[in-house]
Amino acid sequence: MKARWLSTARPVALAAGAALVAADAQAACPIQLAAYGEAKSGAEIDFSPTGTSATIANTFRMILDNNTVLDGIAMWTEGSAGRPHGSRNVSRLWSGGLLKSTVGRLCPERLPGMNADKKTLLVTGGSRGIGAAICRQASRAGYGVAINYVSNRAAAEALVAELEAAGGEAFAVRGDVGNEADVVAMFEAVDRAFGRLDAFVNNAGIVDVKARVDEMSAERIERMMRINVVGSFLCAREAVKRMSTRHCGKGGAIVNLSSAAARLGSPGEYVDYAASKGAIDTLTVGLAREVALEGIRVNAVSPGITETDIHASGGQPERVARMQDLLPLKRAGTADEVASAVLYLLSDAASYITGAILNVSGGR
Ligand code: NAP
Repeated sequence: MKARWLSTARPVALAAGAALVAADAQAACPIQLAAYGEAKSGAEIDFSPTGTSATIANTFRMILDNNTVLDGIAMWTEGSAGRPHGSRNVSRLWSGGLLKSTVGRLCPERLPGMNADKKTLLVTGGSRGIGAAICRQASRAGYGVAINYVSNRAAAEALVAELEAAGGEAFAVRGDVGNEADVVAMFEAVDRAFGRLDAFVNNAGIVDVKARVDEMSAERIERMMRINVVGSFLCAREAVKRMSTRHCGKGGAIVNLSSAAARLGSPGEYVDYAASKGAIDTLTVGLAREVALEGIRVNAVSPGITETDIHASGGQPERVARMQDLLPLKRAGTADEVASAVLYLLSDAASYITGAILNVSGGR
């Protein structure tokens, strides 16, 4: 049973943080003018003014997409934003954020009976390599998993089939993280499919062929920064909008994939890539501090040389074999070893860790 509340009515302009007391907010923006529904499933929510109480302003009726009907009351509480919350019996269904200045999203919570215990995770570049290992481990740990890919649809769909065959819940979503419209659409697809987002991994990343800085074109450097840096920022933005208590979310955890290259600089190979991962480290520390009081932990995993196809995609399929004797542990890492660190940082076991950059680099 899934309820996906998308407003089909007017956008209600209540500026975030507006210092309206409840009565003012109610007068300026009566809840009964809002109408929420989703055409595809027929799910809807309607409000009726009680006319008898300033506190219990409205009753509401939610009709879920399996025809379950929930009746309840919408109450106003005093507070800086004067936002309503809805209750049915004693269980609160939402708090604040109903009247948002953007159309289309009620608090993205699952309602009672909606597989409420299942946490959800979105992994960019989740279809292959380290991302795929993260998706497999997350699915085994009980997460519903959204698997992003950009071009290799077959790999993404094969992974979805694999996770579903093992009893997991997963879906694939195409999107170029370096394209803002794609990023927004990808997160909206997660909203529709899961109705909540608990964890997010900024994993998608590229390298390029070996080159010195004095040989790099502007196009190459811009592509590297657009996918690895701008893409990670845009995705982090969308994740925070869904997780942050400031945006009526319930908190969450974000892990960014950095690289040992950020420390080593990758001279003669790809300093542009190394610099893009330096930006990921800074994003991690800054965002972690920015949202620390909003229920979100932000950390990074910084792998060393890991056995995946990324080296071949940068024209160096032999890179792992060539480099592994130089590593303290005398071998490359596996995607699973990196994924284990990511799952740990997403988990409650890491509840006091935020702003950390965890090296998973075999001692390098
Ligand atoms: P990989 O094997 O090359 O897989 C890359 C994944 O990212 C694929 O799922 C790919 O989708 C997706 N992707 C590529 N460009 C994308 C874009 N513009 N938008 C959305 N998805 C995109 O890479 P990996 O080795 O697993 O690396 C994963 C992360 O770990 C990267 O951030 C990388 O920098 C970091 N890392 C890797 C190593 C290493 O040695 N492997 C070391 C340090 C850090 P398609 O399948 O559709 O192409």
